[in-house]
Amino acid sequence: MFDLVVRNANLPDGREGVDIAVQSGRIVAVESAIAGAAQTEIDATGRLVTPPFVDPHFHMDATLSLGLPRMNTSGTLLEGIALWGELRPTLTKDALIERALRYCDLAVSQGLLAVRSHIDTSDPRLVTAEALLEVRDMVAPYLTLQLVAFPQDGYYRAPDGVASLSRALDMGLDVVGGIPHFERTMADGTASVEALCRIAADRGLPVDIHCDETDDPMSRHVETLAAQTVRFGLHGRVVGSHLTSMHSMDNYYVSKLIPMMVEAGLHAVANPLINIMLQGRHDTYPKRRGMTRVPELLAAGINVGFGHDCVMDPWYSMGSADMLEVGHMAIHVAQMASITDKRKVFEILTYGNARVMGLEGYGIEAGCHADLVILQARDAVEALRLKANRLTVIRRGKVIAETPARLTALTLAGRPAQVDASGYAPSTK
Ligand SMILES: [Zn+2]
Repeated sequence: MFDLVVRNANLPDGREGVDIAVQSGRIVAVESAIAGAAQTEIDATGRLVTPPFVDPHFHMDATLSLGLPRMNTSGTLLEGIALWGELRPTLTKDALIERALRYCDLAVSQGLLAVRSHIDTSDPRLVTAEALLEVRDMVAPYLTLQLVAFPQDGYYRAPDGVASLSRALDMGLDVVGGIPHFERTMADGTASVEALCRIAADRGLPVDIHCDETDDPMSRHVETLAAQTVRFGLHGRVVGSHLTSMHSMDNYYVSKLIPMMVEAGLHAVANPLINIMLQGRHDTYPKRRGMTRVPELLAAGINVGFGHDCVMDPWYSMGSADMLEVGHMAIHVAQMASITDKRKVFEILTYGNARVMGLEGYGIEAGCHADLVILQARDAVEALRLKANRLTVIRRGKVIAETPARLTALTLAGRPAQVDASGYAPSTK
């Protein structure tokens, strides 16, 4: 007797009509027509069943704070940072916890069950770290939360930046962050990357740097990040987040840079919604898109992730914890329009992002955690097109969220009585 069997599922790799059996929170079999009964059986005929969505780049201390204390009128990254600086002294632990929990509820409803969040350590009160460490424990049964010690105002530029980051790591944050392009000078930025990689090596932690989030093609801290990763032997543990300056760099220089990133085993995380919204703000026309060179990074074999980055905060007034919206935007901005590219985008939102976070037991294979999402779409390409409804969300073998199928009743003479948007699409095989 299994705890759970999901019957007749379509999987992201294209397999169809597959059963998934679960026992004690783990997947124990993935094959067609599994014999035997289960306490719970779910029919997934014609539906895509995927491992949960993963967000490798988010700001949970700022989320849902839109309008506090005012709106970002220029829409720029720098006004967002200034606005956050106005809000920060007024933050309370209770309010931070309340907003973060509310966001995690939303995330679960969208089948998003793992999030890496940067936590601002610039205010020496560290109320952000204190609150989010509590949230990490509170949500652990249903959502895996990793916390990055992130010196938003600069590791060297903020008065207490160096000491605060160190104390935040002592408190138990999981990852070393940084923001070299926001330090006062290129030299300070370079020095910060070196110092942060040294801290990660000493403490045995991963690194995730907001790196070159600018349209300035001369912002080249990613080369330092690659070099220091090799120097300290941090291969596979270091993430370059944003990397938007790569959009504007000279092609010859990029032809040298990408092999260095490969040598270092860097992960590259783009944030399509936020990059297209914040970058190019000083351009007239033509206006740059500002997202890093995703197809070229993928072609070089670099693990690419896509993050949501912000939802209703000083930098971005939209968003709904929907990683399919992130992927939908990535398809447009990177012009990844082929069937192969779209399948790759879905793979990034799940497996690629899980690799960025180093998640254990992720996937749909015997031995993996029984974390599954059943979508109102027949395959990964359709899921992205429709930003498909999450019908059932399962964590460690238990259903934790359900949404009714989205169907519209029609009253049109001579036409069907009901429309299911997932019910028809031309064959893409
Ligand atoms: Zn960010």
